[in-house]
Amino acid sequence: GLGISWVTAWVDDTVTVVSDNRVRLSELDREIGDGDHGENLDRGFTAVKAKFDGLAADTSPGAALKLVATTLISTVGGASGPLLGTAYLKGAQALGDATELDSEQLVAFLTAARDGVVMRGKAEIGDKTMIDAWTPAVDAASAAAAEGKSPSAVLRAAADAAIAGAASTEPLVAHKGRASYLGERAVGHRDPGAESSSLILTAAADAAE
Ligand code: ADP
Ligand code: MG
Ligand code: MG
Repeated sequence: GLGISWVTAWVDDTVTVVSDNRVRLSELDREIGDGDHGENLDRGFTAVKAKFDGLAADTSPGAALKLVATTLISTVGGASGPLLGTAYLKGAQALGDATELDSEQLVAFLTAARDGVVMRGKAEIGDKTMIDAWTPAVDAASAAAAEGKSPSAVLRAAADAAIAGAASTEPLVAHKGRASYLGERAVGHRDPGAESSSLILTAAADAAE
């Protein structure tokens, strides 16, 4: 199973990928929002990294992911902070005090995380939000686990589906968030939150290998 070393590697990989894509994510947000998405996430995950520097080696995955949640909620600002923060918080709660996560627990984590975003933001699939990455990811992870795939294969299935889901937002009109004010003018632009969620989920799969 995947333990605390996976969570810390996931955070490290996320910090790197968010920093590397900071400008690109803000450019996507400039096209259909207010141009701050990359800065928002970079500020949040830099703060998470600082908190993780002092993390005890026997911290459970759930406790560590709850720390990610509270840090993102208090530092990101913007719509994506409370939404992603709730994802990590609800996902962490689904893990309880488990120390090694199997494929089914990873599906439970991803499902609870996605449900948390929906609870908070009320977006449906096709609304051109991060849910368009999260929901295909949950579905693909669940199918992979049902086929008996390993934890790392489950996470890779989720990541690949999230990448396709982020691309699927390009032709859509937005029904939630700032992009919804643009109507048809949002068509042809990728949703920044769906894109960042695909990067975060890819980091989760990379960290498991
Ligand atoms: P802000 O719009 O406050 O500047 P960000 O730029 O950090 O916040 O995040 C914007 C992203 O948040 C969008 O691209 C979208 O994916 C996501 N988002 C906004 N509103 C919702 C919602 N109600 N449900 C799900 N995701 C949302
Ligand atoms: Mg923004
Ligand atoms: Mg903003």
